Amino acid sequence: MEKTFSIIKPDAVKNGNIGKILAIVEENGFRIVAMRMTKLSKSQAEGFYAVHSERPFFNSLVTFMTEGPVVLLALEREDAVKKLREVMGATNPANAADGTIRKLFAESIERNSMHGSDAPETAAEELKYFFTGVDLNQL
Ligand code: ATP
Ligand code: MG
Repeated sequence: MEKTFSIIKPDAVKNGNIGKILAIVEENGFRIVAMRMTKLSKSQAEGFYAVHSERPFFNSLVTFMTEGPVVLLALEREDAVKKLREVMGATNPANAADGTIRKLFAESIERNSMHGSDAPETAAEELKYFFTGVDLNQL
């Protein structure tokens, strides 16, 4: 079993898509290990996306990620990191496969409804950034 980290982004929360996204996640065999609705601070969003700090879209991305509530998720299944990326679809919804979360719900390459960790090592760091060991291990 592997864990991955995910965020239901502000566009999807605003558009009333939390339940639909969680249903797709569960239908694809993921167990929800931990879940918290919150609003990210500027410094939390900057820290989370620090790897993109030199990109031209960084300031806009941070503004978007802090514009409204998000849902933080710790998810578990076999091959969770890779499988969640498949279920999410490509970063740009225009390139996302039919039936993927981004194809179904994303508004644009920036407002793309969901985050999923891109490797097991990043998943471990991102889970630790937002959840405590108690959150991740008690259930
Ligand atoms: P995430 O890390 O959110 O799961 P990703 O791994 O598919 O997405 P990244 O390249 O890590 O894509 O980009 C992080 C986020 O930055 C994207 O999900 C999107 O919200 C935003 N983003 C990426 N590229 C662009 C772009 N060219 N213009 C605007 N926003 C972008
Ligand atoms: Mg990424």
